[in-house]
Amino acid sequence: MADDLGRRTTRHAVVIGGSLAGLLAARVLAEHAEKVTVVERDRFPEGPEARPGVPQGRHIHVLIAGGQQAFDELLPGFTDELRELGAPKVGVPEDMVQWQNGKWFDRTPPTLHFYAGPRPQLEWLVRQRVFADPRVELVEGHETVGLIGDSSRVRGVRLRERGAGAEKETRVLEADLVVDASGRSTKAPDWLAAIGAEAPHEDTLDTGLAYSTRVYRAPDGALGSDTMGYFIVPNPAQQYGAVVLPVGDGHHLVTLSGLRDDRPPTEEEAFEEYTKRMPHPVISEWLATAEPVSPVYGFRKTANIRRRYDRPGRRPAGFLATGDALCAFNPIYGQGMAVAAISALALRRALADPKRTPTTQRVQRALLDASKPAWDISAGSDKKMPGAVGDTTKPGPLDKAVGWYMGRVQQRAAGDPVVGAAFREALHLTAPMTGLFAPAVARAVLFGPVAESPAGPPLRRDA
Ligand SMILES: Cc1cc2nc3c(=O)[nH]c(=O)nc-3n(C[C@H](O)[C@H](O)[C@H](O)COP(=O)(O)OP(=O)(O)OC[C@H]3O[C@@H](n4cnc5c(N)ncnc54)[C@H](O)[C@@H]3O)c2cc1C
Repeated sequence: MADDLGRRTTRHAVVIGGSLAGLLAARVLAEHAEKVTVVERDRFPEGPEARPGVPQGRHIHVLIAGGQQAFDELLPGFTDELRELGAPKVGVPEDMVQWQNGKWFDRTPPTLHFYAGPRPQLEWLVRQRVFADPRVELVEGHETVGLIGDSSRVRGVRLRERGAGAEKETRVLEADLVVDASGRSTKAPDWLAAIGAEAPHEDTLDTGLAYSTRVYRAPDGALGSDTMGYFIVPNPAQQYGAVVLPVGDGHHLVTLSGLRDDRPPTEEEAFEEYTKRMPHPVISEWLATAEPVSPVYGFRKTANIRRRYDRPGRRPAGFLATGDALCAFNPIYGQGMAVAAISALALRRALADPKRTPTTQRVQRALLDASKPAWDISAGSDKKMPGAVGDTTKPGPLDKAVGWYMGRVQQRAAGDPVVGAAFREALHLTAPMTGLFAPAVARAVLFGPVAESPAGPPLRRDA
């Protein structure tokens, strides 16, 4: 790496945060730097267990198709290994009973798959792969508490041992490049301000969505019939949702969601009561047969937040942000892990571009661009949710026309194979949203009928 990212060469890169975005960025940086140090405030568990620094890890995490491609490119064979560890592979629409916009989806053969399975297991697998590279080192149990440098260049980070108390001395880790991957609650804007640089503007859109999740075991370890999961997708008129997915070993995660004024409960009895409000009792009936095997876990930080490091300002060289620290989404769309991997690929391309010097500004822009398709889906849909707040709620010039078209897409996605497949490609980040305007899709959206969809939850695959 020769440029303002690291003077003549990047000898040492520091990545703040050892979760997915940080690990995958480290993987790519190791191709360019002599040494990469990942600084993580947690001490990693030995095995695939949940840890405090990633509290969302107890909730349903699906690895969508666009994420699978990116993980496999970064870590060849990754999804095979994930499957060997027991992560269930779910075909959509065939394996799911899905309700969206007042319609049950036909269970036709899958056009895409996602992986369910515990989030800690997926991260553990990435960790094994990334730290197998001797150029990637770990400083765990240490929190980054600030940056060193000035408004023109970041020169390292300041660390404090976790649990040592605020009075304990900090130590400095010098670096040619610092990458912030410390997640949606990053303190980097404050750290930048403290060295005289400018904190980024934050685009925000918050529906106040909350999750409540509990693990269940069914008597026969399954949902019954040939169904792998249930998904009640919320919409502006019906704002609570539920997802049930297998995570291996006969266990299922049940995640309920609701908005600010109607959050799903974290009390055990009320949790099951809440499922009775769904448009159909299919989930509450299954819960009545299943045994809860965990407490109920809640999660509330779900706002869409995009930090605009790409905008002009006093931005120091040698500092980048990626993953949720750069752009965090409403988790209901299941995109964050995929975007972490897609961003690492964008980092790889930007650093290796033979035609353009990878300046901090260029690389940061490439990282932001990598998150844009997911942002457009997540913030674009959330804009329509009642009670959404934030500066991204203002309607844009094309919103009305796009909203009209997307309404027709959604009406047809459940029963029209062409529209359904294109819709899933966009949601899974395997094709851009513009794919929904391709001639064959547009014809079906503009002139095709709305196919009849099943009257109730289709508990069997289509014959
Ligand atoms: C409820 C919920 C459900 C989700 N479901 C899905 C899903 O289905 N599919 C999907 O793809 N994505 C999902 N996501 C998003 C996904 O969890 C994240 O996008 C993904 O983990 C990548 O995040 P990250 O690595 O940027 O940050 P995080 O995973 O949040 O990790 C940040 C890391 O930085 C560390 N850290 C923080 N501060 C410091 C510091 N000062 N010093 C050192 N270390 C620090 C933390 O300990 C942690 O390890 C969901 C998110 C939530 C909230």
